[in-house]
Amino acid sequence: MDRMDHKSRIKQIQQSLQRHRVDALLVTHMPNVRYLCGFTGSSGALAVSAHGSVLHTDGRYTLQAKQEVRASRVRTAKGTPAVAALASIGGRKITVGFEADHVTVAQRELLAKTAPKARLKGVSGLIERSRMIKQPEEVQQLKAAVMLASGLFEVLLHGIKPGLAESHVAAELEYVARRSGAQGMSFETIVASGARSAMPHGVASTHPIAPNGFVVLDYGVILAGYCSDMTRTVHVGSPGRKQKDLYQAVLEAQLAAIDAVGPGVQAGKVDQAARKVLRKAGFDSYFTHSTGHGVGLEIHEPPRLGKGQTELLQPGMVITIEPGAYVPGLGGVRIEDMVLVTETGCQVLTPTSKELMIL
Ligand code: ZN
Ligand code: ZN
Repeated sequence: MDRMDHKSRIKQIQQSLQRHRVDALLVTHMPNVRYLCGFTGSSGALAVSAHGSVLHTDGRYTLQAKQEVRASRVRTAKGTPAVAALASIGGRKITVGFEADHVTVAQRELLAKTAPKARLKGVSGLIERSRMIKQPEEVQQLKAAVMLASGLFEVLLHGIKPGLAESHVAAELEYVARRSGAQGMSFETIVASGARSAMPHGVASTHPIAPNGFVVLDYGVILAGYCSDMTRTVHVGSPGRKQKDLYQAVLEAQLAAIDAVGPGVQAGKVDQAARKVLRKAGFDSYFTHSTGHGVGLEIHEPPRLGKGQTELLQPGMVITIEPGAYVPGLGGVRIEDMVLVTETGCQVLTPTSKELMIL
């Protein structure tokens, strides 16, 4: 059972309805539904108004919803939960907000037919904004997920042998992760070896681990709904001078970005700090993604730590710091930690060593 403070979360949303000029809100994005009422099923919609909040789910989930849901009432819908939820609040001339980022055009048309008297208004990021700042009990869960995942790093290292398929290494990790209590992986495990290490998103393939070169290992586990995310890059066989320089540059960029994290700092400044180090080392053109992202009930959440992002970091945000450089012919390196923004700066949550490991 989760011990999250759903009552205060619902209250916070109720208080923000007016600011978004809506009378009620229809929540259909399941991580947001879970955040607000604790329901972990895959089918449901939450109707929130000043009068209260009601979860509509379908018959498969009635029992589960009654066990899980806090601070909201539960109703079993005959048809689509979103339609039932809207019908329950939208019978009058009111403005109902829906989650514009998560509703398809077809769904919007269906909603309009359901509540012809109501005015539908797309709102964006309303609940995501609340979710950006983690409550202490959420930080606890995220820390537990980080610790479980980093504890599995040894398993990964033992599995890496030249000639063995990348997918074999990933499968071994995922098996042990489940056995250790993980609900699943946060995303498809990345094991990218040799020339493939230069692909930032090289999901584990059937390619064999190369006899010499970098291996990028990026993975995370889900624990009590909360995701972890970490990357380490190791080298199989002895690295050359250029490989060592590349690794060192990415490591220094990662440390500089962590140094830049603190309350009131623009997200883009953290990205800039990493880029500056890579520029000096001549690798900035090979850093082709942003420096990090928020993590929580979803693996990618606001804020985004990319070029020019003006969002101010605040205590309670949990973000990744993950610069990388991917040089064709030389290989790729990425190093990623999860970091908690604190009142005075930040706390690195990932305990795994960042020294270049040679296997
Ligand atoms: Zn990652
Ligand atoms: Zn990440």
